Amino acid sequence: MTGTVYKSTGSWYTVKTADGTAFECRIKGKFRIKGIKSTNPIAVGDHVDFELEHATDTATGLIHHIHDRKNYIVRKSVNLSKQIHIIAANIDQVFLLITIDNPPTTTSFIDRFLVTSEAYGIEAILVFNKIDTLADATLDEQLFLQHTYEEIGYQCLRVSAAEGKGVLPLKELMVGKVSMFSGHSGVGKSTLVNALEPGLDLKTSVISQQSKQGQHTTTFAEMYDLSFNAKIIDTPGIKGFGIVDMEKEEIGGYFPEFFRLQDQCKFNNCLHKDEPHCAIKDALDHDEIAWSRYHSYLQILEGDEEHYRTNTYNE
Ligand code: GDP
Ligand code: ZN
Repeated sequence: MTGTVYKSTGSWYTVKTADGTAFECRIKGKFRIKGIKSTNPIAVGDHVDFELEHATDTATGLIHHIHDRKNYIVRKSVNLSKQIHIIAANIDQVFLLITIDNPPTTTSFIDRFLVTSEAYGIEAILVFNKIDTLADATLDEQLFLQHTYEEIGYQCLRVSAAEGKGVLPLKELMVGKVSMFSGHSGVGKSTLVNALEPGLDLKTSVISQQSKQGQHTTTFAEMYDLSFNAKIIDTPGIKGFGIVDMEKEEIGGYFPEFFRLQDQCKFNNCLHKDEPHCAIKDALDHDEIAWSRYHSYLQILEGDEEHYRTNTYNE
């Protein structure tokens, strides 16, 4: 039988088949995926093949095969620093919630997030929330930001989770897909998920409030079925996308507007800093690339390793 992993707690995995039946499964024998050193062999979102453990007991199963992953997000393992922990796999899209103020979301945070999602190969969609609170300067700022990101090719939505505005277009984007929601604590993730599916309480905010008080909470990702044929992966306590190892030369490639131009730079390993005949700096001078984006790029490029490796994970 084939199914999707919805939950994992230690050695047990909740696997659901296409008809919605859930099975508690364990792994058959030793499992190792080539090229990945992780503390967990299977993660939420994985597609697996399993067989029933006993002919008479239809509730438990043994996983014997894992399908190739489309993508996966990781964090450093808490105990074994050299290893990674796979948080979730096969994510179709991530919605990054942004508020202009209360709390403020900086372009630097947005751009780091986008670089990581590009690196992971997960489509990111920007959701400007709390539009009901915008006026004058904050409204101008929101529209300017939206314009900046739409120009590059990122899809943007404007919503008010509190008033239920703009929720329908968001729902339409989610149908038939596996989605994640991200953003600073207080941007309205719980409120939005509740507007999408009343009664579904994700653990995201609860956990982040706990960890503010210095408590260490063991958190597990979990997948949920929504009533309109959509799936959400909840990742308690994880705001960003974990770690991505990048070489300096790679970073520009994760800025789509740089990527389109970079083969016009004189040097093919151009870092778009001080090199002569740089297509990126040229575009910047002609206002074809936003200064905020270039600034974020330099921050990531010049940040210490820890900075651009740990990225947006847990702030
Ligand atoms: P989370 O930490 O991202 O899950 O954020 P919450 O959903 O807990 O929201 C934080 C606060 O913002 C709560 O007081 C919400 O009522 C409020 N909030 C969320 N969405 C909106 C919105 O669209 N408009 C307004 N005015 N307030 C909102
Ligand atoms: Zn260049």
